[in-house]
Amino acid sequence: MEYDHILIRYGELALKGKNRKKFVEKLQQNVQQKLTEFPDVKVKRTQGRMFILLNGNDPQPIMDKVRNVFGIHSLSLAIKVENDLEKMKEAAYYALTNAEKSKTFKVTVKRINKGFPVRSQELNQILGGYLLSNTNSYTVNVHSPDVEVRVEIRAEATYITSSVVRGAGGLPVGTSDKTLLLLSGGIDSPVAGYLAMKRGVQIEAIHFESPPFTSDRAKQKVLDLAEKLTKFGPSIKVHVVPFTKLQQRIFQETPDGYGMTVMRRMMLRISEKVCQNEGILSLTTGENLGQVASQTMTSMNTINEVTNYPIIRPLVTMDKDEIIEISKAIDTFDISIRPYEDCCTIFVPKAPKTKPKRDRVNYYESKFNYEELIKEAIDGIEVIKINDKKVEEDVFEGLF
Ligand code: ATP
Ligand code: MG
Repeated sequence: MEYDHILIRYGELALKGKNRKKFVEKLQQNVQQKLTEFPDVKVKRTQGRMFILLNGNDPQPIMDKVRNVFGIHSLSLAIKVENDLEKMKEAAYYALTNAEKSKTFKVTVKRINKGFPVRSQELNQILGGYLLSNTNSYTVNVHSPDVEVRVEIRAEATYITSSVVRGAGGLPVGTSDKTLLLLSGGIDSPVAGYLAMKRGVQIEAIHFESPPFTSDRAKQKVLDLAEKLTKFGPSIKVHVVPFTKLQQRIFQETPDGYGMTVMRRMMLRISEKVCQNEGILSLTTGENLGQVASQTMTSMNTINEVTNYPIIRPLVTMDKDEIIEISKAIDTFDISIRPYEDCCTIFVPKAPKTKPKRDRVNYYESKFNYEELIKEAIDGIEVIKINDKKVEEDVFEGLF
């Protein structure tokens, strides 16, 4: 006997009707997509539950992949047996004796199939008694057992589980519309992308690079960050924008520490155009109140003037250490702290304005023809599709 299934429990029970159906179908798709390298593993649904059929595969690597899929509340290894008392006993014994460091247990029977002739309460006692008399070192503790052997009797079969592993929570990616994540090489923006994905949002990313002032390694850093994010959802398209010319021009034309603000506004203008071309409805950034000059309330207000697309800022009120904690947990931190600089760090004026006013910025921008340069930057965009584990390079020429 061995574990032959993984049982997936999904939360968000408040979801009803059509939403729920869409949610569950998307979740099943996302789980399937994470398991393409295991061709004989199947993902099935029955009344309010989802199962992975292991078909002889080692459960651990599969569990590790599926744990990261948003929309899953918890997971358990399960044994499927016929609705037969002797088989249940055997499976319960396996589940208990294979659980980690357990001394106490309880049995919980759920009889969803009311046609099964023995009632739950009685079955608890029969199975508990069987386990006690066939083992030496276990005792029953109904209030806080080390292991809960759960027995779910369904129409088609009985599923027996013991340990419960926490899932990633959230909503399945793709149950909400897409957002365009402004992805720098820093600590914050990948975390912002992760949090958007957690609420079901699928992402594309946009990155502004300024070669030769920024290196290929700075770009690689961004692609590596995007790859980390694919752990939590489908493949990610990264739009890499050649920003050098526009950026140099901005800093020539803009006095008084306003260059940074104009640069951010140009980023938003270009991002909005990409959204229009891709049918994306919002932008997401790693902005956070009060960290640096570009992120004061005045600055956000002035930067925000150029777009009426919603800007999602999942980190806006978080503390830096909370952000770092998440970035470590999702494994982007070590990539983010690689020392290669992005375009912002290089061009940033020594004393950027902390309170850049809208009228001043509009005045500076009116002095030069940035529309041409924006168009040129957009024409030069390179699109790189990042798949889970491997990076595929695709250049879509003449897309815009
Ligand atoms: P991060 O850690 O994400 O770089 P930060 O604290 O360095 O953020 P800023 O440099 O002010 O903050 O950038 C604010 C946000 O602007 C970033 O979180 C990101 O969403 C976006 N951004 C900055 N630089 C770039 C870039 N080169 N390409 C794409 N987006 C960028
Ligand atoms: Mg940064």
